[in-house]
Amino acid sequence: MQIPFPKKKVTRSIAAKEFEILEHAYPGAQTELQYSNPFELLIAVILSAQCTDARVNMTTPALFAKYPGAEELSKADRLDVERIIKSCGFYRMKAKNIVATARDLVEKHAGIVPDDRVALESLAGVGRKTASVVLSVVFEKAAFAVDTHVFRVAHRLGLTLGKSERDVERDVTGFLPPEKWRHAHHWLILHGRAICKAPTPRCDICPLQGICPSRGIVEQAFAKTAKGRRQVRAGEVVARPRQSSAKASTPSSVPRSPRRSKASKDS
Ligand code: SF4
Repeated sequence: MQIPFPKKKVTRSIAAKEFEILEHAYPGAQTELQYSNPFELLIAVILSAQCTDARVNMTTPALFAKYPGAEELSKADRLDVERIIKSCGFYRMKAKNIVATARDLVEKHAGIVPDDRVALESLAGVGRKTASVVLSVVFEKAAFAVDTHVFRVAHRLGLTLGKSERDVERDVTGFLPPEKWRHAHHWLILHGRAICKAPTPRCDICPLQGICPSRGIVEQAFAKTAKGRRQVRAGEVVARPRQSSAKASTPSSVPRSPRRSKASKDS
């Protein structure tokens, strides 16, 4: 089911209400990646590109049992690393990246994960998104990482019209004080995984349904599917007019996936 994004941003007061509801719905939200130190989180985040956190959590115990720190991983045989992380997908590229990252950590930072963005992004295999997750989760710094869930949910809520991850980061953080940025990242991810799913958002059980500018769009899109047409004919659902209560629901041609710059190292 193709679901266009709203083409107008919500007002500051609607955005504030959306975040209030999300904070209430996901209290104490945090990363689902398992780690016991900054090095493990950094490697886990690199492995999580195009992969679920659950799959990464199944993989990293074996990896860290054999290569517990940057020193050990920097000297690893890449084929052995590929074998261990194979189930995470893109394993050749990821094995190359994590070994190179470990080597950079040893050579430039005495094996310690740095706590500033410039140093993190200078590591092989570390882009803005990975650096933001490490900065916000481990070092509790004001940073807002944009992944595919954050990109989609932020658009559906009318928090951004941005075409790139940097656009979304700028727009969403513009609605929030810096101390909320790292929490908002997790609220949007958890909401995207649990309710506002990519193909089938569950607007019927969503705590944001009263103010979300996408609700009418979702219902319009569903009504056009074969199942939706059957339900409309049977009177089980009503195809609402496109306009939502937030007056921001006209579909646009905003891309469904974030555009990444060629320089981006996050995949
Ligand atoms: S109302 Fe629907 S589109 Fe809006 S946030 Fe909730 S699930 Fe997503």
